[in-house]
Amino acid sequence: MSRVFNFSAGPAVLPEEVLKEAAEEMMDYRGCGMSVMEMSHRSKMFQTIIGEAEADLRELMGIPDNYKVLFLQGGASQQFAMIPMNLFKNRVGDFIITGQWAKKAYQEASLYGKANAVASSADKTFSYIPDVSDLPISEDADYVYICENNTIYGTKYKTLPDTKGKTLVADLSSCFLSEPVDVSKYGLIFAGAQKNVGPAGVVIVIIREDLISEEVLPGTPTMLRYKTHADAVSLYNTPPAYGIYICGKVFQWLKKLGGLNAMKEINEKKAALLYDFLDQSKLFKGTVVKEDRSLMNVPFITGDEALDELFVKESRAAGFENLKGHRTVGGMRASIYNAMPTEGVEKLVAFMKDFEEKHAK
Ligand SMILES: *Cc1c(COP(=O)(O)O)cnc(C)c1O
Repeated sequence: MSRVFNFSAGPAVLPEEVLKEAAEEMMDYRGCGMSVMEMSHRSKMFQTIIGEAEADLRELMGIPDNYKVLFLQGGASQQFAMIPMNLFKNRVGDFIITGQWAKKAYQEASLYGKANAVASSADKTFSYIPDVSDLPISEDADYVYICENNTIYGTKYKTLPDTKGKTLVADLSSCFLSEPVDVSKYGLIFAGAQKNVGPAGVVIVIIREDLISEEVLPGTPTMLRYKTHADAVSLYNTPPAYGIYICGKVFQWLKKLGGLNAMKEINEKKAALLYDFLDQSKLFKGTVVKEDRSLMNVPFITGDEALDELFVKESRAAGFENLKGHRTVGGMRASIYNAMPTEGVEKLVAFMKDFEEKHAK
């Protein structure tokens, strides 16, 4: 067996320990004679799996008791619609546009009411986070929306916006569980699992209870109401059971590692290896302003498209997968999520040094 270093932005690398455990339990989960994939979601065994997953997530993030944790489907993108459908009372949302995912959420919300772009970093290809200390928040805004870590552009909020008392809604898909989060500052957090937690097909929603109500936009399908899933503890219908089981294993892995403070420390060291190299390189250059750099997604370029292409090709041959930048940005992007071992980044930097020696003018 040979595993590559997978720098994919998502679906992305998972902890090897988790994959091995899942493999061992594939045919016979803890003596029940079947795989988790084959088991009733109403069974006692699965109730334990989802119950423990939620409890571990609550412990890891310190989620207050007045928040619900929901394991849903439809990916992060479905939340772009579900949020306005459930949270629009005045039908007004204020959006900070820091990249494609924020923009998609903004466009989707505008199908249901008034979506305001209160700040944007589109002027410089989303290479920074706008000043969010004094935004023109709408008086009647139902919420203020951010994408906290911008997967495509490699930026991350270091301070949350001043929402002037309005509910903060945040897409944490690509930084979920990468560091501690003060959940009480948000009304709603959501994250697609496939970036930092588990397989595609699960989206985790953490929502303050007072935001869950029967009052939703007319025509909102039962399946797209938070109340449906909160009342049924994520078991209204068949949930993405196998995915939830893997997420649970990743939560366990994080707990064993020492929790989110320990994870953050590892992530900072790991990212510094790459950023420190980029900062002194004669060939490679990071594309994001220093103070807004993501710990998870690191875009970089050589400034020469042909050379970028050669780099991606040669890196692939050397066992580094998915370093090609997003199709809208070009260049390269190394996604170094929680499960990317430090060794992977060390080896990537060594490979980049070699490449630089051969190609720097
Ligand atoms: C990947 C990603 C999405 C989209 O996720 P899907 O599960 O494919 O819908 C949304 N937001 C962010 C920040 C992402 O990284």
